[in-house]
Amino acid sequence: MNLFTTPQLAAWVEQVRSIASQGKLPTYIPLLAQADSNWVAVAIADSHGEILQAGNIDRRFPLMSVVKPFILLYVLETVGAERVFDRVDRVASTEPFNVIPQGKPQNPMLNAGAITIASLLPSCDRFCEWLNQQAGTQLYLDERMLASVRSLSHRRNQEIVQVLEDSGYIENADAALAIYEQVCCLSATVEDCARLGLLLACDRIPSNRNLSGQNLSRRISDISKKNRQIVAEIVTTCGMYAASAQFMQEVGLPSKSAVSGIILSLIPDRGAIAVYSPTLDAIGNSVAGLFLVKQIDAALRAAINSRS
Ligand code: GLN
Repeated sequence: MNLFTTPQLAAWVEQVRSIASQGKLPTYIPLLAQADSNWVAVAIADSHGEILQAGNIDRRFPLMSVVKPFILLYVLETVGAERVFDRVDRVASTEPFNVIPQGKPQNPMLNAGAITIASLLPSCDRFCEWLNQQAGTQLYLDERMLASVRSLSHRRNQEIVQVLEDSGYIENADAALAIYEQVCCLSATVEDCARLGLLLACDRIPSNRNLSGQNLSRRISDISKKNRQIVAEIVTTCGMYAASAQFMQEVGLPSKSAVSGIILSLIPDRGAIAVYSPTLDAIGNSVAGLFLVKQIDAALRAAINSRS
C-alpha cells in the first residue's frame, strides 16, 4: 500500500497506550482478565503481501468473535448460501453478542448465529488448516484458553445452544457448543489477523509460499467473490456489536471486533488492518483499537486524496 511507514505506526501505538487504560479487561473468561492493559499491536497487510507492524506484535490472543466472519466464509464455501441462511438470518441487531435467540438467530455475528453455523463445520482442525492454507497464517488451538472458557460454572452459551436445539436450528447442543468454543480459541498474532482480513478484502492475495511478505507474487483467491461479499456485507452491519451503525458512519471500513481486544478492519480491494489491545469499552470494543483504526482510516483517506 506504501501509504504508511513502520515508524509512523510505532508512534501511533505509543500514543494510544495511555488511552488503553480507559477501558476495562473482560472478566468473564479468566485468562483474558490476565492480559496486560498496556499491550497494543497493529498490523496492516496489503494485497501484495507487504505487512507493516508495530507494538507488541509477538503477543498471541484467541480470535474469539473475530472468527465469526471466517466460520461464515467457510460454510458458505462448503455447504452453500441456501443451507446457511435457512438456519440463520442476516439482519442487523443492536443486542449484546450473547443475547438468547427468539426463533431464527438474527445474524452470524451474534453468538447464537455463529454457534448455529459452527455446527456445520467438519472439525476445528480442518477449519484451522483451511484458514492457514488460504491465508498463510499460523493459527492453532490454544488449549489453555479453551480450558479457561470451559471453566465457567454458568455459561451463557449453554443456554443459547439449548434454545437453538429445542427450536431445531442445531441438531446437537453439546457438539455445536464444543466446536464453537474451540474455533473461538484459535490463537493468533496481529499479523495473522491482518492476513485473515485479506481473504475477505481482496480478489488477489499473496501467494501462500510468500509467508515472509518479501516476494510480491500474488494469486487469485480460491474463494468465491460472491461469498466474500456476503460476509463483508454482514460484517459491515453487524461486526461491531451495538456500535456497528455508528462505526460505519464514522469509519466506513467493514470491521469485526472480539472480546479478546481485536478489531479487524477491511480496506476493500486494498488490504486489511488488525489492531490488538485488550481493554474494552462498555459495548465490548477495544478502546485503543477503535482509536487506532480511526486514525489509520483518516490517514488513509488523506493519503489517497492527496494522490488523486
Ligand atoms: N467466545 C466468546 C463468547 O462466545 C466470544 C465472544 C466475543 O468475542 N464477543 O462468549
